[in-house]
Amino acid sequence: MSNKRKVAILGATGAVGQRYIQLLQGHPWFEVAVLAASEKSAGKKYKDAATWLMESELPKEIAEMPVANIDVKSCEDTGDFDLVFTSLPGDLAGPTENAFGAKYPVFSKASAHRMDKDVPLIIPEINPDHTGLIKVQQKQRGWKGFITTDPNCSTIGLAITLAPLMRFGIKQVVVTTMQALSGAGYPGVASLDMIDNVVPFISGEEDKMETEAQKILGRFDGETIKYADFQASASCNRVNVKDGHLESVFVKLDKEPSLEEVELAFTAFKGEPQKLKLPSAPAQPIIVRHEKNRPQPRYDRDAGAGQSVVVGRLRKDPIMTIKYMCLSHNTVRGAAGGGILSAELYVAKGLA
Ligand code: NAP
Repeated sequence: MSNKRKVAILGATGAVGQRYIQLLQGHPWFEVAVLAASEKSAGKKYKDAATWLMESELPKEIAEMPVANIDVKSCEDTGDFDLVFTSLPGDLAGPTENAFGAKYPVFSKASAHRMDKDVPLIIPEINPDHTGLIKVQQKQRGWKGFITTDPNCSTIGLAITLAPLMRFGIKQVVVTTMQALSGAGYPGVASLDMIDNVVPFISGEEDKMETEAQKILGRFDGETIKYADFQASASCNRVNVKDGHLESVFVKLDKEPSLEEVELAFTAFKGEPQKLKLPSAPAQPIIVRHEKNRPQPRYDRDAGAGQSVVVGRLRKDPIMTIKYMCLSHNTVRGAAGGGILSAELYVAKGLA
């Protein structure tokens, strides 16, 4: 018998849910036990409910699994599970994650609880100590389980590259994104809106990018998170790319490091996932490229199996201090891969 932890995936038929299924194939610690989606999918076999979008084949055993409804009873009636990955629309995620969090560890990709005072917003390389907030949450809510969240898919690339810059004192950040279509889920944005086009608006995205990094880079004092003290301004755009969010980042620093010092800070950046050798940890969280035209989504999104952030075009800036481009795979590091790495961290710390 397998002693892997059994996982339920809520939103299993969507763009992120499918990436969870793909990345969990052969995972050494986790196995997929329950799949859940909307009422229109529930009761069907997975192969009949989902339009499989991944590059790899739909695994045979997953294809035949039944899809449950997104509620605790329907999932429990479908199979046993130890922890929950959620990739649900924001409005639905709030109450659903509360219901599951009372009993199970919940790893959320939705925005509903990210900024709750007692909910950690985790990037395992940056703030593994913020997992300590779980004890506060469980005490306050009287829960056996908990909710922990991952950042927005475009915040992740930004925050990972800001983390090693904290030593130079971050004052201000300006970021413009070029975000992939899969970031809008499936079927997502209408094809006629995207062919031959760029859409300079993504609902709710700029607010998230302007606030989440300060929580992630903040300090946990044992009770609460004290946010990092810098300003951020974001402009978000949807572009005609399948996967991979590219970002143009300008940072004003207190100090005036040389470009060599900044590059060294990026390339030397490692965290607990690398120290603990977590199964989904990239060897190199930030990869710096020197070609004048990289990173590019098509060539660089799969770096480090999609878990690395690729930085390029590092330059001095005449108004701010430095500028660079960064790229991260939105459904791997920005979604399912980040969620799995987070869950590995909690398991390694004995918290899940
Ligand atoms: P998606 O492709 O639209 O998938 C949504 C999933 O939620 C599907 O499984 C869908 O099931 C289910 N669902 C929708 N409405 C429901 C309802 N009323 N009741 C129960 N289930 C319902 O979206 P996604 O891109 O995977 O995103 C999911 C979440 O992750 C969102 O909060 C999004 O903001 C976040 N996120 C996405 C990305 C990304 O790159 N896509 C990255 C980071 C975070 P049916 O198939 O049965 O409708």
